This record gives sequence, C-alpha cells and structure tokens, in this order.
Amino acid sequence: MGGLSPEKGSKYGRKLATPDIVSLRVGTLGPIIAAMSQTFRQRRIARAEELAAQYPSASEMLRFFVPVARFQDELYRAAQKTLKSQKPVVSFAQPLAAEVVERFPGFLSLVEETGPAPVAAAARDLRNQAANRQLQLLTAFWTRDGGRVIGVGDKGDGHREFFARAFLQPYAEFVREQAGKQEAGPTPCLCPFCSRKPGVGVLRPLGDGGQRSLVCSFCLGEWEFRRIVCPGCGEENHAKLPVYTAEEFQHVRVECCDTCRRYIKTVDLTRNGLAEPVVDEIASIPLDLWAQKQGYTKLQVNLMLL
Ligand SMILES: [Zn+2]
Ligand SMILES: [Zn+2]
Repeated sequence: MGGLSPEKGSKYGRKLATPDIVSLRVGTLGPIIAAMSQTFRQRRIARAEELAAQYPSASEMLRFFVPVARFQDELYRAAQKTLKSQKPVVSFAQPLAAEVVERFPGFLSLVEETGPAPVAAAARDLRNQAANRQLQLLTAFWTRDGGRVIGVGDKGDGHREFFARAFLQPYAEFVREQAGKQEAGPTPCLCPFCSRKPGVGVLRPLGDGGQRSLVCSFCLGEWEFRRIVCPGCGEENHAKLPVYTAEEFQHVRVECCDTCRRYIKTVDLTRNGLAEPVVDEIASIPLDLWAQKQGYTKLQVNLMLL
C-alpha cells in the first residue's frame, strides 16, 4: 500500500475555513432518505456486483454480499407488508417480531449455500441448534446485549455477530423508518435512531465542498455530522485528525484520530457520485489493512466483520 499518503492540500485544517462545512442543516436529510429508501437496497446489490468485478481483493466478499443483500431486500419488503400498519408502531425498544424471527433458519440455509466455507459451516452449526438458542442470539443483538451473549471481541465467535447483524439489518431499517429519530444532541457519535456506532461516513455535494454525514452500522440511518470531529472520542483538533486517501480508491477517505487511534472510512460522493457508501466501504478492504498496520483500530467493523 505504498500509494497511501496524506491527502495533499485537503486536510481538515484547510477545509475548516470554508463556511459551508460549519453550517449544518440538521433534520433536512431524514425525509429525503425516507423517500429514496425504496431503491437503496436495489442500488447496493447492483453496486456490489459491479465492484466485485472491479476489485479482485474484495470480489469474494462482495459476491457473498449480493445474495445476503437480496435476502435483506426480501425481508424488508415482507416486514413492510405485514407490520407496517401494526399498532403500536414498531420500535427498537420492543421485542423482535415473530414474523421476522421465523425467517432466520431460511437465512442460515442461504449462507450455507452461498457463503465462504467457514461461514457456511458456522451457519450449519447454528441452524442445527434449538430454536430458542437462535432466538437468544437474535434477541441479544437486538437489545444491544450482543457483547456479552454473542462474544463480540472473541474472534472465534464473530460469525454469530455476522448472522445476527446481517439478518436483522433490514428489519432495523424498517423499524427506523417507522419509529423516527430520537433526541441525540447536535453531533451524535451514536445513531440517533438505534444508538449503534456509525459504520461509514459520507460526503455529499454541498456548494463547493462536501457535507459530512455518518451511516449507522446497523439500521443504516444517516445523520449529519460536523467534519472536524472524531466520531470515536469527540476530538476536534484538526491536527489530530489526519485524512488519508489512496490512488486506487480516490473516493474513499481514511479518517483517523491520533487521540483515540481509531478510524472510520468516508465515501466521498463529490468525487464519485455512483458510489454506494456501504458497498464501497466493503470494497476498499486494502485501506483497512493499511490503517490497521499504522496502528489504528476501526471504529466499527462492517457487515463482513472487516
Ligand atoms: Zn442505527
Ligand atoms: Zn478519536
């Protein structure tokens, strides 16, 4: 990764001077996203197919992402069909809907058929376990008790985190759209919908520059976020927030923090308007390898546990 170097001339420090970056328009993004959400899942699938052919280093991962994303699209549409008019309105505080949970064995079968060998074997093991063990896993992740029950941090059990997150993600998207935002302050480091960590940043065109927002690692909700703040620890000193880019992924920024030593990748839509942040984040694996070699830890691993 010799091509990686500090992004010349566009460190945060310089961009801070432009007024468009500091003028936040909190709250304007929600309705736009709700209106477009119908096509988000389809666009992610198409983008994954495209990038799988383009980036050999990520092709196996993205080829597996495609059937997972198709399943997610089906689950989302099923949830919308059966639960949309439910009273009371679904929320993150309520237990998982039975109509969703009953689809989990089908998801595990899909992973058995389409996943790389170790993931497929783990899916088979889990599918052979009692239904209440499966429910325990999903409930733990849903109630954010995943760290204790799933063993997050224990690498050997990472597959269980993948199963829970990948399966529940479309339901979380649906619940987010129904439940709406919670009060979360001006620069929330956690998702204002479901209180999880962001998984990827986005720069959207705004005036001559870009407006930064963060995308939730679970419900995929997006919220505006100041450019010169670390979402890991709140550091605001631009000298401690270096940004790196690489020749082969010019639209993906590695945004690091020298205070907490964490990083998040941000997909710059001002440079590539065709990018799909969640997918381009997965496709740019070499940037993660580089950042981790420099001693940075990812703020939140992505769906594929990278
Ligand atoms: Zn969220
Ligand atoms: Zn930090």
